[in-house]
Amino acid sequence: MKTGSTTAQVKEISDRLEEFGYVVNPIFGVEKTVIGAVGGAEHQKVDSIDQLRAYEGVEDVILITKPYKFVAKEYRGKKSVIDVGGVLIGGDKIVMMAGPCTVEDEGQLLYTAEKVAKAGARILRGGAYKPCTSPYSYQGMGVEGLELLQAAGKQFGLKVVTEVMHVRKVEEVAQYADILQIGTRNMQNYDLLREVGQSRTPVMLKRGMTAKFEEWLLAAEYIAAGGNEKIMLCERGIRTFEPYTRNTLDLSAVPALNSLTHLPVIVDPSQGTGRRELVGPMSKASVAVGADGLIIEVHPSPDHAIKDGAQSITIEGFEKLMPELEAIAAAVGRTFRQPVLS
Ligand code: PEP
Ligand code: MN
Repeated sequence: MKTGSTTAQVKEISDRLEEFGYVVNPIFGVEKTVIGAVGGAEHQKVDSIDQLRAYEGVEDVILITKPYKFVAKEYRGKKSVIDVGGVLIGGDKIVMMAGPCTVEDEGQLLYTAEKVAKAGARILRGGAYKPCTSPYSYQGMGVEGLELLQAAGKQFGLKVVTEVMHVRKVEEVAQYADILQIGTRNMQNYDLLREVGQSRTPVMLKRGMTAKFEEWLLAAEYIAAGGNEKIMLCERGIRTFEPYTRNTLDLSAVPALNSLTHLPVIVDPSQGTGRRELVGPMSKASVAVGADGLIIEVHPSPDHAIKDGAQSITIEGFEKLMPELEAIAAAVGRTFRQPVLS
């Protein structure tokens, strides 16, 4: 309560809180009164509690309980392990996802898939539906791209992650993909979040480019509340004032999320930096700070890529990076996936 708030104001607030079902414990200080409210099921009451801010005499309303429930660390107590068709994400092994930004043609995809599988990746990435800032950019191959991803995955023993952009496409994409990617531009598309919440396919929720951890976790809560708890979060960089990098990769998100949520955390150093020479160093740093996996853009000829060539590493670059990551993983007590292909 504000300094100088009246007994009547304190009583009014206390009565309101009791109506909401809280046990009220006011603390009368020399200058200020603090009204403690103890009780359960706050999640349904967030809006009502927030409205108390406007009451006469109230200085601030501070929620001690987190506004999310299913994705909170305390809900599970330990990290969730997501089983993606036999590939475990969130366990002691770090999982590598790799592939082109965009599926371009069969040759490009099959070649890349084979090489990244041999190098030890377990999940093939590639966009069939691309969210583009410009309507004139390449928008993706659509279903044909999904078919190529599925075929490449089957051929080389890789699971597939690809983006779904629209509520009406969730079922379609889920027929081909093992993980549904929700892109940064859709992190707060609540209808889409609800829709993937109805699916039983694992979801990778990328961080909105201006999203705070709490907003990101509340977006994940939408999916979990719908009944799909197979969610992983992906830090992909946030928008800051620095134009040298396309985004600022916020690696503090990894240990922070590891203390706030039980959901596995993946890092995307490709969108996260926009520069291919930074992908290797930031990948190593990601493993060092506790990421459960990485998603990296790899292209056989990045300079000829349709999209995101500047941030795509070569196949040789990926092959060289893998043992370096394995060494970092060992240093932080994690293991690294062995190649499915030899
Ligand atoms: C991508 O993975 O190619 C992509 C478009 O990601 P984001 O949504 O993070 O920009
Ligand atoms: Mn991309």
